[in-house]
Amino acid sequence: MIIARTIGELQKHVAEALSKKMQIGFVPTMGALHKGHIALIERCVKENEFSVCSVFVNPAQFNNREDLKNYPRTEEADLKKLDLAKCNLVFIPTVNEMYPDKKLLEMDFGELERMMEGRFRPGHFKGVATVVYKLFSMVKPHRAYFGEKDFQQLMVIRQLVKQMNMPVEIIPCPTVREDDGVAMSSRNVRLTSDERKAAPVIYQSLLRALKDFKGGNETSEIRKAVKAMVEDEKLFTLEYFELARVDASEGSIALLDKNDSTENVRAFIAVNASAVRLIDNAAL
Ligand code: AMP
Repeated sequence: MIIARTIGELQKHVAEALSKKMQIGFVPTMGALHKGHIALIERCVKENEFSVCSVFVNPAQFNNREDLKNYPRTEEADLKKLDLAKCNLVFIPTVNEMYPDKKLLEMDFGELERMMEGRFRPGHFKGVATVVYKLFSMVKPHRAYFGEKDFQQLMVIRQLVKQMNMPVEIIPCPTVREDDGVAMSSRNVRLTSDERKAAPVIYQSLLRALKDFKGGNETSEIRKAVKAMVEDEKLFTLEYFELARVDASEGSIALLDKNDSTENVRAFIAVNASAVRLIDNAAL
């Protein structure tokens, strides 16, 4: 596996692969890799001749300094996992390599970047879109793989690609979960052992909400029930819970306030534990 730490090295290998008419697949990550990430890499390796993974903790998408400082960094272990998964190249730039200039182009995704995650993490999606745009320009992938775990992010990326006419196919991949239903996340290691034991309630509350929604319950009742279920654990507070209608191929999300039809509905949740905030979502 090639390890590229500068944009120059990365571009040299990309140019070589393109000159051999290879199809390039790309998986952007922030490292601290787990089975959820590896599922994306394995699919990428299967579907492309040259697979690139980036490992970059992107400061532009953090609105909380502590979260950025405490974000797990496990480079050595990440490299082993990527090598094992037969990734061809890993790009590990420094912050200075990615952002040599202070002034950055700013994109705006309207309501999509202001609801849910965007509401509680202002500027988060501008930071995500900026880094993904820069990475796509460098890696020139034919296909790029994103997890449904971060569903709103996936919709922002769809909008980015559509609006900028980028020639890359965005491939959504299902959320990989632990046996007890907890969505895998690099941040799970920062849960206390009691919080980790209680964490299945997050996904369970989503499943219950979807069942109640399908059964015709009012969204306001469902919201109350989710809050009670999560906060009954005492270790968590609910940050938001939303039901929304999504158009996954268009990249749009519209929050629901009344029950009209149950088609293309997803439930979204964010929960605060003592030192970390967790998100999840599920489809009907
Ligand atoms: P991150 O390193 O958290 O920025 O995630 C990098 C990519 O992996 C994103 O496309 C995530 O949506 C995806 N991802 C993270 N966790 C999971 C998971 N449990 N299942 C599937 N994809 C995931």
